[in-house]
Amino acid sequence: MPTSPLTPQITTPHDPFQEPRREDCPWCGSPRLRTRLRAPDPLRHRSGRFVLDACRDCGHAFQNPRLSAEGLAFFHRDFYERHLEEFAAQFRSARAVRHRHRATAWRLSALREPESWLDVGTGRGGFPEAAKEFFPYTSFDGLDPTARVEQALLEGRVEEAHRGYLTTPGMAARLRARYDVVTMFHHLQHAPDPRAELRAALTVLRRGGHLVIEVPDPRCLFATLLGRWWLPYGQPRHLHLVPPANLWAELRSLGCTILVTDRTTPHVPYDLSAAVALAVAQAHPVVQLAAIPVQTLASALDHGCAPLLRRTRFSNAYRVVARKDGG
Ligand SMILES: [Zn+2]
Repeated sequence: MPTSPLTPQITTPHDPFQEPRREDCPWCGSPRLRTRLRAPDPLRHRSGRFVLDACRDCGHAFQNPRLSAEGLAFFHRDFYERHLEEFAAQFRSARAVRHRHRATAWRLSALREPESWLDVGTGRGGFPEAAKEFFPYTSFDGLDPTARVEQALLEGRVEEAHRGYLTTPGMAARLRARYDVVTMFHHLQHAPDPRAELRAALTVLRRGGHLVIEVPDPRCLFATLLGRWWLPYGQPRHLHLVPPANLWAELRSLGCTILVTDRTTPHVPYDLSAAVALAVAQAHPVVQLAAIPVQTLASALDHGCAPLLRRTRFSNAYRVVARKDGG
């Protein structure tokens, strides 16, 4: 039958929130993929499941199909951010976050007094605020895909606010060679193209400057144990989970020297308590109420076992400090 413009065409349903599914690893190009996870949006702002694939050759894990620009914008709206922060407050207090920023800044105080520092994925500027105690003469700027960075500027936690990713058109060119230090705490997993984000980070660094990256470790044994209830899988907002060896190799190939790798102190003691929160997120309020003692116990275990677990493959994050040597 001839088709007319009025004949409905049967096509694959296209979700404007997702890119087409890819058949190869975005890190190494291998076609040997396996499905690692199918998980819903825990806050149920969208129905359906998000899929995380893993590469059998290099171990890279990535959302496939990946969120489109429209999908990314949806999951970085103020409304979603606020809902996510309320959810996270169940297993991570604001005080714990501040304490962690301060401990990290103290560790980095071995860096020679930098003049200019860019915190990428800064949110409301919590890290620059904590770091000023150890770097009183440093000028901190912030970059973030959400409007929170503008709030950080208004409240005086950063001196300049940049909205987007380092790979946002024009961003790296505008900030070229301006910084002595670039930090990315739990940012790279949100970047649509993490390798391009790393190259852009080196563009905005001066030669001899330091790049500090902290990300979830996809090899963490809690991931195997907890499956879809492992918080750092972070669907739908985590697009890439990079294993340490891949990150080291990439930084070396970009002309960096790796000064520090730390798989111990970046561990965040929340795997079990966050798993409980994820499991009951959509349950009836009575069930949520009943889960409170379980959550308290899980939190006690998370914190009680952390000194031991952070020294094992149960550590859920790692940090790399690299120096830009290349021209
Ligand atoms: Zn791969």
